[in-house]
Amino acid sequence: RVVMGTKVDQNHVNYVTAYNMLTGIRFTVSRTNAKLDRDLQEADFDAKHKFSFDITGNELTPSAKYDFKFKDYAPWVFRHLRNIFRIDPADYLMSLTSKYILSELGSPGKSGSFFYFSRDYKYIIKTIHHAEHKVLRKILRNYYTHVKDNPNTLLSQFYGLHRVKVPYGRKIHFVVMNNLFPPHRDIHQTFDLKGSTIGRNFKEEDLDKNPRATLKDLNWLRRNMHVELGPVKKYKFIEQMQKDVALLQKLKIMDYSLLVGIHDLSKGNEDKLRDKTLRVFQPGGEKTDQLAPTTTLMRTPSKLETQRKANELRQTLLNQKPVPVNQTLDKMPEEMSESQVKRDFYFYSDDRGFRATHEDDEPGEQIYYLGIIDCLTHYGFVKRLEHFWKGLNSTESQISAVPPDRYGDRFIRFISGNTKSKELAEQDAQQAESQ
Ligand code: ATP
Ligand code: CA
Ligand code: CA
Repeated sequence: RVVMGTKVDQNHVNYVTAYNMLTGIRFTVSRTNAKLDRDLQEADFDAKHKFSFDITGNELTPSAKYDFKFKDYAPWVFRHLRNIFRIDPADYLMSLTSKYILSELGSPGKSGSFFYFSRDYKYIIKTIHHAEHKVLRKILRNYYTHVKDNPNTLLSQFYGLHRVKVPYGRKIHFVVMNNLFPPHRDIHQTFDLKGSTIGRNFKEEDLDKNPRATLKDLNWLRRNMHVELGPVKKYKFIEQMQKDVALLQKLKIMDYSLLVGIHDLSKGNEDKLRDKTLRVFQPGGEKTDQLAPTTTLMRTPSKLETQRKANELRQTLLNQKPVPVNQTLDKMPEEMSESQVKRDFYFYSDDRGFRATHEDDEPGEQIYYLGIIDCLTHYGFVKRLEHFWKGLNSTESQISAVPPDRYGDRFIRFISGNTKSKELAEQDAQQAESQ
């Protein structure tokens, strides 16, 4: 993980794109949420709405800084999904407001996708290929049903699917999803695991240059790592993973990974450097240096201001007169605080993560931040081709482009085989040695 990304200010090449994305999100999400909630209909899954923004504004859209077109996909479905994932609408809009430009992680994968963090690091915007966008639209019905039946799913949580286009520019599709990693905790190690060994190595010598790099399967095996969970948590974890993977297999999706971020409680939060590097930029021209959102900062510096803003937004959404701030404070306890909300989600309930346990189910030293990511690649033509070429000189257990059923089975086998308590892992290692 690149620690905090590059700030996207007005001089950044992707400033306009980021600004347009946020402006479009803000407009379309407010528009949908301003309406009375209703049950989903079949047509909601195929819905798409196109909006034109320009500097003067029109009867439908407010004026914007740039001319661009924005397409909003299945807004009602995503409204319901955000609700299932307990995303507060006002909070969502505040995090993604165009007043604060995001920071960009650049393009960490080979796919060429760009990643942007919301200013509070809760959300990630990922640009996706046209093919991935088609996959998401196609699977949306199944994904929605799955998430509804499995609120504890480990799959990426999708909160929105949109498209932006500037005049003469290309169409850019993007999703908004959860950032699995918390803003307030150092992630000491990150692994992206697929259960394959071919090409799944991060060169150990490059770790000096980039100590927080995302490591892969071979690095994991070399370190004899395990997701250290005692019997109860292991059971729950594997059970959920199997259900999630079964869905991906059914939908013929592959190439996904288990992203594992490890916070070591004995190390704590050492890296204070990043606090000074994050800046939040306002497109109005004012540049405010702001500390990174650490635990305290996230909750305290402008609690009143945050509540006031949230209240204003909520009121705007409800189309009502804003309530004065002092009254809001009395009202706040009714609303669930974020930590309460997250506590309901089993794998994100220990300070937004999942705490390690020993063989006796007592808590361990790590907090895991886990999820199945990059799950919009269909086993299509390209993969079949890759399978053919790689298949010529590798044994199938090692190549990464096997068909979805086998991909999923291998994934589960790898993850379950590498999930055990520290005690059990040590015992297994001793046994292996004595043989
Ligand atoms: P490729 O197809 O080459 O694997 P990609 O562009 O599709 O790359 P992803 O695999 O989705 O990218 O993600 C790349 C990296 O970005 C991950 O290994 C992880 O470090 C980070 N990342 C992706 N999604 C998340 C998330 N939801 N939360 C935190 N970090 C993430
Ligand atoms: Ca990937
Ligand atoms: Ca990908």
